[in-house]
Amino acid sequence: MMETCDVLIVGAGPAGLAAAKGAVENGAERVIVVERDKTSGGILNQCIHDGFGLIRYGKQLTGPEYAAKALQEVQGVEFSLGNQVVDISAGRIVTMVGKSGMRKIKAGAIVLATGCRERTRGAISIPGSRPAGVFTAGVAQNLVNVRNVMLGKEVVILGSGDIGLIMARRLTLEGAHVKAVVEILPEPAGLARNISQCLYDFGIPIYVSHTVSNIYGAKRLTGIEVSEVDADMKVIPGTGKFMECDTLILSVGLIPENEVAQTAGVKLDKRSNGVVTDEFLQTSVPGVFSCGNSRRVMDLADFASEQGEMAGNNAAAYLCGGAMKAWDNSRGNSMKKGFPEKDSVTCTLCPNGCQVRWIEESSTFEGNRCPRGAEFAEQERVAPKRTLTTTMRIAGDGKSLVPVRSEEMVEKSRLLEISKEIREAAADSPVEIGQTVLELAGGVKIVAAGCVETG
Ligand SMILES: Cc1cc2nc3c(=O)[nH]c(=O)nc-3n(C[C@H](O)[C@H](O)[C@H](O)COP(=O)(O)OP(=O)(O)OC[C@H]3O[C@@H](n4cnc5c(N)ncnc54)[C@H](O)[C@@H]3O)c2cc1C
Ligand code: SF4
Repeated sequence: MMETCDVLIVGAGPAGLAAAKGAVENGAERVIVVERDKTSGGILNQCIHDGFGLIRYGKQLTGPEYAAKALQEVQGVEFSLGNQVVDISAGRIVTMVGKSGMRKIKAGAIVLATGCRERTRGAISIPGSRPAGVFTAGVAQNLVNVRNVMLGKEVVILGSGDIGLIMARRLTLEGAHVKAVVEILPEPAGLARNISQCLYDFGIPIYVSHTVSNIYGAKRLTGIEVSEVDADMKVIPGTGKFMECDTLILSVGLIPENEVAQTAGVKLDKRSNGVVTDEFLQTSVPGVFSCGNSRRVMDLADFASEQGEMAGNNAAAYLCGGAMKAWDNSRGNSMKKGFPEKDSVTCTLCPNGCQVRWIEESSTFEGNRCPRGAEFAEQERVAPKRTLTTTMRIAGDGKSLVPVRSEEMVEKSRLLEISKEIREAAADSPVEIGQTVLELAGGVKIVAAGCVETG
């Protein structure tokens, strides 16, 4: 007899976790979440910066804090961690493989929440040699934030999407010299908030309408050539300049990950590789739903969760009867992207990145969507402050890390000094979220933003 379940969810990132919640709340009885990693949380586990959760939880959270909250909301669900779904065949029969072998489950309805992956050097065809030292931004983020591996000392970042910008700050806080961010478009692709807090705060230059036109080095990267591009994004001959570096980070876009969806025969968008769905998030195969980054790459985890919850709700409705909810495709945040405006302060307190300006005539601030923006702009004039997010070593094995944050905002001018002090310290395990792991001069408290269980 084949095992059966009501709703099976592929992927335990924010979209998959919320889908499980939605399915249970709408009456599905046996709900199974299959995740190939050993833990739930998806990409959030390596996103140790804050900026998550303001819409869903009304709080600025780091990625691991958001993942922990999302997991707490899921009750009455079976997790099958460390198992990869490899096939979905007719009749919604799901095949997965893991350490304990192969398992087949016949599902009443399926939710695909498999996330996305990064475009690589091959996808953008940079000429040159193939030395070590070239990483995609997500791989770099995983190595630095999770595996405690430092990548290099002299870094250039190609691509100004948010992951590239966040890695520019992250590597700077870890003691690297980020020489430049190079962007082929005439405007940065990421949020104004990240241009401001990840580049401007640390004096990292950004070259727009430029690209990396050559890579040099035999075993290890020794440098790159950076050239100007024309309006068609073609390299302008004769504009190339050599830039010495030992590390190149590629942040050149994300592609929905849909190999499993293809085995189920669902229709994909040829241009984006995202899953095509109707307004109820149902794919071209009845009973198979899609949400989160595997449907369409989303800027905010909050929206991935919201959409996941709806997909789970609708999967249960498909199975048990009842009305499905329609997703509003225009749902999105009006976050300021590109260069910050001149003569304005970019409020970095949330991803909106409001451009706040002092109006002399009326003695008021303008451009802030909430009162916190005015307070931030005023603070910025007197003594700029930021929340510091980084990692701290766990004493003992010398390898494990715990994500940490400053309990309160700290002076911007002290960010590098405080990061160095945290780098030189170590926390004793076990560590719980919110636990104080270090106290520094001036009453600066560093608290855990993730947990470490083993001693
Ligand atoms: C570097 C970076 C910075 C970001 N910064 C922010 C930010 O500041 N604020 C914010 O709100 N959002 C941010 N985001 C966006 C947000 O993290 C994503 O939109 C969100 O995590 C997408 O959720 P998801 O569940 O669709 O995908 P994911 O989180 O990628 O989860 C997909 C899961 O599916 C699993 N999976 C895939 N295939 C299989 C399979 N065949 N079998 C089993 N499991 C499978 C994967 O292992 C993974 O766990 C950032 C994203 C990145 C990459
Ligand atoms: S002013 Fe704008 S960016 Fe600042 S907290 Fe309010 S909404 Fe967010």
